[in-house]
Amino acid sequence: MGLRFQAPRGTRDLLPGELRLWQWAERLAREVLEHYGYAEIRTPLFEDYELFARTSGESSDVVQKEMYRFKDLKGRDLALRPEGTASVCRAYLEHSMSGQGRLQKLWYAGPMMRYGRPQKGRYRQFSQIGAECIGVAAPDADIEMIALFVDIFEAWGFESLTVAVNSVGTPEIRRAYGEALRAWLEPVREMLSADSRQRLEVNPLRVLDSKDPGDVAFLTGKDAGLGPMPRLIDSLDRSAAAHWDAVRAGLDALGIAYEVDPGLVRGLDYYTHTAFEVHDRSLGAQSALGGGGRYDGLIEALGGQPTPGVGFSIGLDRAMLVLAERGTLGDLPRPLVFVVGMEATQRHVHPLVRALRQVYAAEFDLEARGTTAQMRTAGRRGATAVVVLGEEEWKRGEVVVKDMKSGTQETVILEGLPERLDRIMGLTGEVRAE
Ligand code: AMP
Repeated sequence: MGLRFQAPRGTRDLLPGELRLWQWAERLAREVLEHYGYAEIRTPLFEDYELFARTSGESSDVVQKEMYRFKDLKGRDLALRPEGTASVCRAYLEHSMSGQGRLQKLWYAGPMMRYGRPQKGRYRQFSQIGAECIGVAAPDADIEMIALFVDIFEAWGFESLTVAVNSVGTPEIRRAYGEALRAWLEPVREMLSADSRQRLEVNPLRVLDSKDPGDVAFLTGKDAGLGPMPRLIDSLDRSAAAHWDAVRAGLDALGIAYEVDPGLVRGLDYYTHTAFEVHDRSLGAQSALGGGGRYDGLIEALGGQPTPGVGFSIGLDRAMLVLAERGTLGDLPRPLVFVVGMEATQRHVHPLVRALRQVYAAEFDLEARGTTAQMRTAGRRGATAVVVLGEEEWKRGEVVVKDMKSGTQETVILEGLPERLDRIMGLTGEVRAE
């Protein structure tokens, strides 16, 4: 008989074995974020649909096809969050965080939901860890953001990471560039995919996101004698060019490897200046591990005062896939003490275990089976030390301690147990066995 219930399509359970890697990665990321002065923020898993519709752009795939939109019992129009930035900016405004000092450095982690077509590295529920630096327009904020982004990957053991960077200028620059792009593609307009033809009308920059092989051939200049594609970075005005130059100089000064990717554009109006992204080829089609950029128009679009911001988000599921394929195991399980009782001493086992648990991970046989079965369980659970409460020893105030790595065992007085265990477990601490 088939299982009656399974995790919904595009979702999955993360089991304890796999989570060791996640917990390790989240811990390291948190450390890096804290060293950069970021504080955590937790926002709701669902928000007003309108918040995302406005910030992700009505014409974007996320809004048009991928949003988990629903009405609650009072008919409120809500959506499961597809990303974190909109919620963080909403919270920033709602709690007047601009008044608490100009700069806010916030990070978040948690599940995001998008109704996409599931495949390797692409889920309907996936997790992101992200950071937002709100209130500073200067290029150093972009540089620090990219450094933070890279340092998280480096903490996870990613080496020689190359970040793709670009400048998307300002909305005015993009409008002019969009016209130039439209004119450049005009001769092949009829040969473009239907999606791209439509995008060319509404928002020409989004044609650059096309994955259609025919479109890609035109865009990469492999076809039809179009000449080189006009580049947004060549259309920057003086102030946007100064920002772009400063960002690159800052990355150079930090020794961060980057490639300029003129095709890395985000079509939405509130994006400005720096855009960046990192990929890992081992993931195939869904290769983006994370990305970010500056969004100086976003908070204003939400009804706030014009407030600059820059941020990124990293897709944890994909990063963990890559790490698991490379054999990264994550946190080692804690060393464990297993206490074995005999018939006459079994009732002393749980009190001793409870005392040990003040300092160590400690376990015992909940079913109080025979000594051999208990010893076998201790081995199976990977115990580092086993404490045996032998009947005779216990009467003398002693216990037998076995070092499972070396296989040696020793009888010690109860008072000497903490010291003996500390040596075996490689820890220091106090434990009082009553
Ligand atoms: P985005 O918010 O679209 O810029 O995505 C940021 C990162 O989240 C991407 O680089 C991916 O690593 C990850 N991501 C986005 N969508 C998905 C998805 N459906 N499944 C898994 N990871 C995703």
